[in-house]
Amino acid sequence: MTSEPDETAAAPEPAPAPSDPDGVLRLLDVEAEPPGAYGELEPATPPLIDGQGRVRLSFSRIDTYQNCPRRFRYAYVDRLPTVPGPALSFGSSIHAALEAFYDRKLPDRPSEDDLLGWLYEAWDSTGFEELPRDEQLSYYRHAQDVLRRYHRRVGDAYRLPATTEAWFELPIGFEAVVVGSIDRVDVDDDGRFHVIDYKTNRKVKDRARVAGSLQLAIYALACRHLFGSLPATVCLDFVVPGVEVRVPVEELDLEAARTAILDVAASIREERYEPTPNRLCDWCDHRAVCPAWPEDGAESLGEAVEELRRRRRQVARDVRALRELEAGVTRLATEVQDAERS
Ligand code: SF4
Repeated sequence: MTSEPDETAAAPEPAPAPSDPDGVLRLLDVEAEPPGAYGELEPATPPLIDGQGRVRLSFSRIDTYQNCPRRFRYAYVDRLPTVPGPALSFGSSIHAALEAFYDRKLPDRPSEDDLLGWLYEAWDSTGFEELPRDEQLSYYRHAQDVLRRYHRRVGDAYRLPATTEAWFELPIGFEAVVVGSIDRVDVDDDGRFHVIDYKTNRKVKDRARVAGSLQLAIYALACRHLFGSLPATVCLDFVVPGVEVRVPVEELDLEAARTAILDVAASIREERYEPTPNRLCDWCDHRAVCPAWPEDGAESLGEAVEELRRRRRQVARDVRALRELEAGVTRLATEVQDAERS
């Protein structure tokens, strides 16, 4: 692998700053000699071990690890790039529209047009960029249909939730912390909580699988952490087929969920990243570098390196643009100060 030229080296240095004790003129701290390749602008993702020495997990990280520890390593330790697909963008667009639908502070159900408008505003096209325009459009129309049906299904039962996208950081002993957000928490007339998670896959899970969902167990524990009591029910709302599967919290095995989280945290701490071939290998972004599939060759490593170069170039361009902007603002501020003095 050839080493990358340091493109930040050619970036102009900012002009000397005028007196600015409160730092209001400083748009962004960019070190003259950054400690990392790109100083403060080095792309950041949450660290694997937090400041308190706990393994920082999310449901998605746990799920990835349980599915294949090597895939987890590629994604969260090596941080190899992944390609967002249509399913991811479709799901995040639907989630964002539904969040807006419930996030109003008025008791009346927003109109179908409002809901479709929020879909328009929230539409995430990143996963569709490789597709021809008519396919992109058909995804968009499908999302509109899904939300129209959702709007009809909710009907007059619409009520304001206790919260949407409730962010949590749930400590599990001293070993792990699980972070995430709950799509929606409802509160009923008796003050009991109900956790709802939207799913955008086509297939509905049966009741037993919903009760066994680690994600819902985490959300139930998070609900207690945030609001002081477990929810009365947890629910997966499969918005594409329009089916809600709800189970009472008593059917969840919360202790088993805690044990599973701690097991994953311990394995990550021990750096156990064995490849585990499974039915999702065909969709794995890292298959070509995975030792479980040696016949796939190292072509994708080349893709990963190319992506790394592309991102480095982009970051370097951004650093240059910010430094130029910062230098411009600094110059103008100096001129303003000189004008005030004269
Ligand atoms: S290709 Fe399969 S075995 Fe290899 S990292 Fe991906 S999911 Fe794991």
